[in-house]
Amino acid sequence: MHTEQSETLYKKACTLMPGGVNSPVRAFRSVGRTPLFIRSAKGDRLLDEDGNEWIDYVCSWGPGILGHAHPVVVEKVRQAALDGLTFGAPTKKETELAELIRHCMPSMEKLRLVNSGTEAVMSAVRAARGYTGRDKIVKFRGCYHGHSDGLLVKAGSGALTGGVPDSGGVPASYTEHTLVASYNDRQSVEDIFRAYGEEIACLLVEPVAANMGVVLPEEGFLAFLREITARYGTVLLFDEVITGFRLGLGGAQAYYGIRPDLTTLGKIAGGGMPLAVYGGRQEIMDCVAPLGEVYQAGTLSGNPIATTAGIATLSLLMEHTEIYEEIEAKAALLAAACQNRRGMWVNRVGSLLSVFFTDEPVRDYDSAASSNTDIYASYFNHMLENGIYVAPSQFESMFVSAAHSEEDVERTADCIRDFAMA
Ligand SMILES: *Cc1c(COP(=O)(O)O)cnc(C)c1O
Repeated sequence: MHTEQSETLYKKACTLMPGGVNSPVRAFRSVGRTPLFIRSAKGDRLLDEDGNEWIDYVCSWGPGILGHAHPVVVEKVRQAALDGLTFGAPTKKETELAELIRHCMPSMEKLRLVNSGTEAVMSAVRAARGYTGRDKIVKFRGCYHGHSDGLLVKAGSGALTGGVPDSGGVPASYTEHTLVASYNDRQSVEDIFRAYGEEIACLLVEPVAANMGVVLPEEGFLAFLREITARYGTVLLFDEVITGFRLGLGGAQAYYGIRPDLTTLGKIAGGGMPLAVYGGRQEIMDCVAPLGEVYQAGTLSGNPIATTAGIATLSLLMEHTEIYEEIEAKAALLAAACQNRRGMWVNRVGSLLSVFFTDEPVRDYDSAASSNTDIYASYFNHMLENGIYVAPSQFESMFVSAAHSEEDVERTADCIRDFAMA
C-alpha cells in the first residue's frame, strides 16, 4: 500500500495545525501510523490521496448511516446551495426539520438547532441549570459529552468529591460541580444523590455508551436513572448524539422505552453537515432566550444547507425503516466473527459494535480500559492492510451503514476471524 501522498500532506499539516489534525483522534497516534488523507468517499468506500480504497467503518464517527455521498442527499444539498448558504434569519426548513425530529422523538416537545454535539450538550446543561436553579450535575466515567469545560472531567479522589479536570486549560473551579458516577453502577448514583440530591440540576448519560467503546446499559439501569432523577427533581438528559437515529428513528429512548426530560442529538441528525440539536420538555426549553433567561445563540444555527442534509437523511430513514434491520443484521455478522473467542469481547446493539481485547465482560469504564490497546493497534493494522478502515482507537464504535454491501461485510468478518485465530 502506498501512502506517500498522505505522509507528505501530513507533514505539511503538522506545521499548520496541532498534530496535523482538526480533531485529535484523527491523528492515528494510538495505532502508531500516519493518518490517511481522504480525497473522496462514496457508499461504503473511502478513497485516499494515494488512490487507496477502503471499506469504511468509521462513517465520519457516526453520521454516515446511509453511506457516503447518498445521491438524494447530495442533490438536495446542491439545490439548497444555489439558494444561498446562510441568511441569519428563520427559514421553513428549520421548522420542517424540527417537526421531523419531534415526530420521531416525542419527548423533544421543543428543541433548538445548533452546530455541534459539544454545543448541544453544553446548552442543554445550561437550560437544566436555569430551569432547576441548581448547580451540580452528574455524569458517568467514560461517557463523552463534547469538549465543554465542565464536562471534561474525571472522577475526583472519592465518588462524592467534585470532578477533576481531564484536560489542560480547565480551571478546577469549572469542574467542582460535576460529580462522576460509574456506568451501570446504581450504588454510585445512589450515593451521590443521597449526599447532594436536592442540589443536582441534571444527570447526563449516553443511554448506550459509545465513547469508551460500545457499552450497553444493563437491564433496568436506565429505568433506575429515570426513577431516581424524578424522585429528586433532577433533569434526566439523554445524550443521543450517537444513538439518535442510529438505534432506530426513536433513538435509544424508544429502544429502551425511557422518556428523558432533555435529549441531545448530532451526527446523523445533520446528515453529514455540522448540525446538532437539544430539546425536551417544553417547560424546560421555554427557559431559553428569548422566552426565558438562559442565553444561547448561534450565527450559523439552523443553517439552510445543514437543515437540508438533515431533512433529506431523516426522510430517507423514515421512508426506508427496513434499513435498521439490515444494518443490524450486518453488524451481527461482524460481531459473530469474534464472539466466544478467548481474549476477545464484543459488545453490540443495533448497528453499533466494539471489539475489545480482554477476557472480562465489558460493562463500564474500568472493564473497557482493561482491553489491551497494543493488540487493538495490531488489529487496526491487520484490517488496514486488508483494505478495511476501522477506528484508530480502541475506545470508539464500529458503525455499519446502509451502503455496506453484503460482500464487503463478509470480507470484513473473514478479516476479523483471521485476526482472532492468529
Ligand atoms: C460526538 C459526541 C459529542 C460531541 O459532538 P461534536 O459534534 O463532536 O461536538 C457529544 N456527545 C456524544 C455522545 C458524542 O458521541
